[in-house]
Amino acid sequence: MTDRLNIAIVGAGIGGLSAALALRARGMNVTVFEEAQSPRKAGAGISIPPNAAILLKRAGLCEAIEKITTRSHGLTLRTSRGEPVPGPSATPTAPSYQIHRVELLEMLLGAWAGTVRFGHRCVAVNDVGSGARLTFADGAVCDADVVIGADGIHSIVRREIGLTASPTSEGIVAYRGLVQTQKLSWAADLRGLNMWMGDGRSFICFPVSQGRLINIVAFVPSSLDMEETWFAPGDVRTLAGEYSGWDAPVQDIIAALDQTFRWGIYDRPPLPYWSRGCVTLLGDAAHPMVPHFGQGAGQSIEDGFALAVLLEHAGREEIPGRLQAYQNLRLGRTSRVQAASRLAGRFYRSAAGNPSEQAERMREWMSAAAWIFPYDTEEAAGALLRSVN
Ligand SMILES: Cc1cc2nc3c(=O)[nH]c(=O)nc-3n(C[C@H](O)[C@H](O)[C@H](O)COP(=O)(O)OP(=O)(O)OC[C@H]3O[C@@H](n4cnc5c(N)ncnc54)[C@H](O)[C@@H]3O)c2cc1C
Repeated sequence: MTDRLNIAIVGAGIGGLSAALALRARGMNVTVFEEAQSPRKAGAGISIPPNAAILLKRAGLCEAIEKITTRSHGLTLRTSRGEPVPGPSATPTAPSYQIHRVELLEMLLGAWAGTVRFGHRCVAVNDVGSGARLTFADGAVCDADVVIGADGIHSIVRREIGLTASPTSEGIVAYRGLVQTQKLSWAADLRGLNMWMGDGRSFICFPVSQGRLINIVAFVPSSLDMEETWFAPGDVRTLAGEYSGWDAPVQDIIAALDQTFRWGIYDRPPLPYWSRGCVTLLGDAAHPMVPHFGQGAGQSIEDGFALAVLLEHAGREEIPGRLQAYQNLRLGRTSRVQAASRLAGRFYRSAAGNPSEQAERMREWMSAAAWIFPYDTEEAAGALLRSVN
């Protein structure tokens, strides 16, 4: 091919911005369209697993990541009463990172330094000639050789290619929040991921913002329908009631919270396809998953890097085939990760067993899920491309 492909990405979340960086690095023209008027400031801490961290570092973001992350020191498990549950033996070989979501988005935006058209809410996607046309809420249009829907759980692009993702409530809600580390005398020594499990619920905390803040995620049962959003406020006193009688650090952290946000947890089955013509999906738009394995953002990062390998040097007539190859490569893996995340949630919330029984079950479960970490999506995409050429 002689001229560069024009790629339009809908959504400037972790998935959309990572894909933008990966696609540009392989020579494509990329424009990102985002419905928010300016970069979103919502969200708390997330964990970037080794299978995704390796891609960001290979893209030259090593120094930038180290500036904003807290490197993981493994997983510490306890029962709700604080009894240690011996750690899993099958720990990942490469590091993962705990990051404040807003800082990660700022880092990606800074590294991207390309065009993000804020205030552009995509309302329709149509085939035109050899590409696709995006229409926005204000009537503006944009034609591109490839359209990528990175527009999250409630994706419009997904709808526009004929798909629906039916949610089933897991019957739990995630409370999220951040506490200033200095508010807790013991918290300066907190390292890695810390989880307390039992009684139908779990509580996770880990440091972010280079240890200045402690991020909490608390999964509790709920029969109410709740929004999936970073913006729905929760009640700190209700949260405290949910963990009454639990290990003292859990209660201390909740008492130190100024505010909390609630996110209803819904599961969705894998989609039958992701790509139609010159349009495809990535991230939560393609494979929304329950968050118990900390892989949602990680898989969205893998998607973008795989797509970049598969689209590099593609002629326009090859695009539908390359997007099918992308779907074939990614749908199987992300479906398995979705299933592993579902099982992880069930395990964390189960109250059964004493610490040694729980440790044994944890070991079994972690070794069954160990395949997720040592995976190189660029290598897999390269191998796939070579096998079809
Ligand atoms: C409680 C909880 C904890 C989690 N913890 C982790 C974790 O530890 N590790 C991990 O890897 N993942 C975690 N996740 C999952 C992770 O947050 C998501 O998987 C990830 O943010 C998905 O990124 P995305 O870019 O696909 O979608 P999003 O982050 O949702 O981004 C989509 C973007 O598209 C924009 N948009 C939407 N519609 C339109 C439109 N019509 N037009 C234009 N723009 C649009 C939105 O404004 C948004 O900016 C967690 C999720 C939850 C709920």
